[in-house]
Amino acid sequence: MSQYAIAIDIGGTKIAGGLLRTPDADTGNLEKTDSNVTLERLTQSKKWEVPTPRTGGGQVAAAVVSVVKMVAEYAREKSLHPVGIGIGSAGVIDAEGRKIASATDAIPGWSGTNLADIVEAETGFRVIIENDVHAHARGEASWGSGQGYGSTVMVAVGTGIGGAFTLADKVLRGAHGLAGHVGHIIVPGAEGNICSCGCDAHLEGIAAGPGMTRWFNSRGGNAENAVELEKLAIAGDELAKTVLTEAATATGNITAGLVNCFDPEIAILGGGLARAGELYWKPLRNAYESQLMPALKDIPLVAAELGSKAALIGAGQLAFQKFLD
Ligand SMILES: [Zn+2]
Repeated sequence: MSQYAIAIDIGGTKIAGGLLRTPDADTGNLEKTDSNVTLERLTQSKKWEVPTPRTGGGQVAAAVVSVVKMVAEYAREKSLHPVGIGIGSAGVIDAEGRKIASATDAIPGWSGTNLADIVEAETGFRVIIENDVHAHARGEASWGSGQGYGSTVMVAVGTGIGGAFTLADKVLRGAHGLAGHVGHIIVPGAEGNICSCGCDAHLEGIAAGPGMTRWFNSRGGNAENAVELEKLAIAGDELAKTVLTEAATATGNITAGLVNCFDPEIAILGGGLARAGELYWKPLRNAYESQLMPALKDIPLVAAELGSKAALIGAGQLAFQKFLD
């Protein structure tokens, strides 16, 4: 019989909810299914979404409770009984998956919020939380591009650059919950570009969307964001092509370095830049292939499949792992 979990994805701009179903016995979790079938396991409504409050952690927790109640009401109408709630959230999560240990100002007042206690008290469901990038990787590894592979390295290139390493159903957390900060590795040639962490010449500073846009503009370009920068490159702007190639090359080099370190079965590129075209993917692949050790030449680098639903799916998967007997 199928089981259900409530999934919540907390980002800087919105809080989204969904209801996840375990795979049917006849399709199996490890069998590769097309993405439509995969996504049928996730019920998500536009209505199960609210803007992330800017007025403190307590308000954000209350907004999470409101989304959980919408999903729970749907489940109740369908006579479904979720096993618990899995939450993917921006910020560093404590080792028990109960609270927000620390967070940036992307969500004001989020640091220190006892989220699991609050949501459990208000809804009656059991709760488990993990970092949203880790949830994103868990989703891709279990139901997306990594489905069927025993281990993955994921690099997510968007507003920042994050990543994660998965082995079977585990996501490497690290001693402080910080494992996978792929964006904070130095890139030769990127000197003079200060990263969000304060260091000079980190990957994120030149290869994340805002980073590559700043890098482009500081060298005489004029673009609002990475999408516009890519359009300029496609139109033949030489500087835009150079910056896009540099960003892709650095990302490919570092991804290959991680594959050499961790020896996964597959490498997955996620985040907004994964949807970029060949002007990005070609130098990315070239750099990746050039830096792999000979014994790892066959490890594929593929685009993530689940898009913005990955963290939601990963959060639900986390709840299944924690609460299914
Ligand atoms: Zn950095």
